[in-house]
Amino acid sequence: MSLAHLGRLLIVILGLSSPVGAQNRSERQIIVIVADEGDPRVGYVRDAIMFWNRTLADLGLSVRLSEVELAVAPRGHRSIETFARFVSQRGGRVPKGVSGPQPPLELRELGGDVVMLLSVQPLLPFAWPLVGSPGYFVAIRSVQARRPNDNEVLRNVIAHELGHTLGLIHNRGGASLMCGPCSALAVGSRPDGWLSLTDRDRSRLRQFHSSR
Ligand SMILES: [Zn+2]
Repeated sequence: MSLAHLGRLLIVILGLSSPVGAQNRSERQIIVIVADEGDPRVGYVRDAIMFWNRTLADLGLSVRLSEVELAVAPRGHRSIETFARFVSQRGGRVPKGVSGPQPPLELRELGGDVVMLLSVQPLLPFAWPLVGSPGYFVAIRSVQARRPNDNEVLRNVIAHELGHTLGLIHNRGGASLMCGPCSALAVGSRPDGWLSLTDRDRSRLRQFHSSR
């Protein structure tokens, strides 16, 4: 295990997942795995990326999220879904880092900073730090067509998970974007449809990312 790996592992053990990659890299590569490229969630990911890039620019920070790079039904798609179910079911209770469940090779091969699976399963969404590349594996649940405002909820869920990859942690309760647990009623209460960031979120972003 290299020293860098050890550092990363310790950060993960402390529960303070570090933002992806080196601090001075300005663009995070976002790879999105999807079964069908017509999936409406791809548009929500694009919206969430725009939200973050606007927010980061407003804060005067140099980091940006890249345009979506689509991986449509890539090799190993099924094992990546299985790994997502495994992590989701054991969320918070699996050993992380090198001793945790190992991601399938096909997930590793996608590379990038963040690999986001738009899952076919109704799983609990998560952002899971990995050792090496990709730095984070994010999984987003399937669409719940009968749920009112599901599109608005999903957009905020996606922005929330991307927030973790930028170094943000949960705000206990309430109705902020990084809430955990969250009050579902809060979504859509703002005119632009995005839940708000707290002062603590903003100072964490400033702490983790360099200014322009
Ligand atoms: Zn969360």
